[in-house]
Amino acid sequence: STALVTGANGFIGQALTYQLLQDGYKVIGQVRSTEKGKQLSALVDDTSFSYVVVPTLEQKGAFDKVLEENHQIETIFHIASPVTKFKDDIESKMLIPAIEGTKNILKSITDKAPQLKHFVYTSSSIAQLNYGADAIADEDSWSDITYEESKVNGFTGYAGSKKFAEKEVWKFRNEQKPSFTITTILPSLVFGPQAYEGSIFHLTSSASVFESAIKSKTKEEMEAALAFPYVIDIRDVVKAHIFAAENEQADGKRLSLSNGVVNADTILKILNDNFPEKTTLKANDPAKPAPINLFNSQRTQALLGPFISPEKTVIDTIEQLIKNKRF
Ligand code: NDP
Repeated sequence: STALVTGANGFIGQALTYQLLQDGYKVIGQVRSTEKGKQLSALVDDTSFSYVVVPTLEQKGAFDKVLEENHQIETIFHIASPVTKFKDDIESKMLIPAIEGTKNILKSITDKAPQLKHFVYTSSSIAQLNYGADAIADEDSWSDITYEESKVNGFTGYAGSKKFAEKEVWKFRNEQKPSFTITTILPSLVFGPQAYEGSIFHLTSSASVFESAIKSKTKEEMEAALAFPYVIDIRDVVKAHIFAAENEQADGKRLSLSNGVVNADTILKILNDNFPEKTTLKANDPAKPAPINLFNSQRTQALLGPFISPEKTVIDTIEQLIKNKRF
């Protein structure tokens, strides 16, 4: 079976590509330039992998050609979305590519890919969470951020981009009643090893957040890096995407991927216990109450099985960095 993975060169895109190939899929990875496609092909190094270039998600009909030319695609994982927290032009750099990009790919599917069986959209736990409210977010929860509030800064822009793009997915399902299944995946901050170890030398997204957190010189710096202290393992993120594509019971569902709090104290305790030579900082110094866990992913875990423990996630990520002399 053939899958299209958008944003295939990113942290999650690479990990999903790796596992799909292991599972016997043929994978077409979408990237934004030929150069990035060539780099990714060299990294993946598998005859079942090929890439396509779609430079601008928000351009009307952006995916028409790819879908017209590849009627063998049965599953689409739509992962590509702006993750950089831009300081200005939030609407044009973050909101529009995320929202219009999602509408566009769904329109191209309607026009050009009648054979499609499964559509999986990578949303974010930020689309579930209401800052300021004490309510625990679960599979039914939605952020109450407005479109106007989204334009304020990079953080609100990211939150709005994920919420409003995911809303388009469900609007499409409700209005078009498509024949293919639709599932959305809502991960918290994704940590864990790189699927392709070569990528450790230019980490992106949450993988680079993790690297800066563990390399912090002060606890304050580490706390600032982990301002959003809710995590999930990359391997669980991949598992959820593939589960969504392979299990009819995932149709119409939002899968909530949050596995508790990992803050500076959590990471320092793991460092102090397992890699004592790597930091002079100490856990619980000064002692601070841990943030409450704002997420409940129980229903998703009942479907997928229990998540990998945060301790294993942190240790495996650190070990890969150490092995490659990055820590
Ligand atoms: P990466 O930065 O590693 O990858 C992002 C991917 O999206 C890259 O392929 C990138 O292409 C592409 N992309 C970014 N901006 C645009 C744009 N304007 N137009 C087209 N493509 C674009 O991030 P992740 O792999 O971590 O993120 C992938 C997805 O997962 C995103 O949708 C993100 O919101 C979501 N997510 C990630 C979480 C995390 O903690 N990592 C948590 C929750 C959700 P290029 O390389 O050319 O920039």
